[in-house]
Amino acid sequence: MKLTDERIEELRAKQLPRLDWRDLFDVTEGQVTIEDAAAMSAYFSRFVMSPEGKGGCINCELVQGGLISALLGGFRWGLAHGEGSCSRCGYPARAIHYEVGIIRRLEAIFQYHPDELRTRAEREASELEKPSVVTNGDEK
Ligand SMILES: [Zn+2]
Repeated sequence: MKLTDERIEELRAKQLPRLDWRDLFDVTEGQVTIEDAAAMSAYFSRFVMSPEGKGGCINCELVQGGLISALLGGFRWGLAHGEGSCSRCGYPARAIHYEVGIIRRLEAIFQYHPDELRTRAEREASELEKPSVVTNGDEK
């Protein structure tokens, strides 16, 4: 399923849950400072919770991570370090995460939340703003 502006609007309308670091790591009370917890909440909330934890693309359901993805090529690296996208539909994701709260380096593919993507119309409306690294991938 092609990632068009209309498709981005459809995905936004689903109001998918954002990623919460507490769902990724088992942390007992006292292990993480308030500052680290706030930094991790702010960072990881830009990504979308994978539907039912299956790790599939939220747009086309192609598996993004793990052995199946390695065999079938579900994730494609981008030009920016750590960034990439779904190899089938181009939905953007980040696969390497550095220096977030108590995390030094984490390799895990997380797709951006649809609200973090900008449609072509939104990009054109804010041409004077600093360009976002997150696009819907339809520029090629
Ligand atoms: Zn996809």
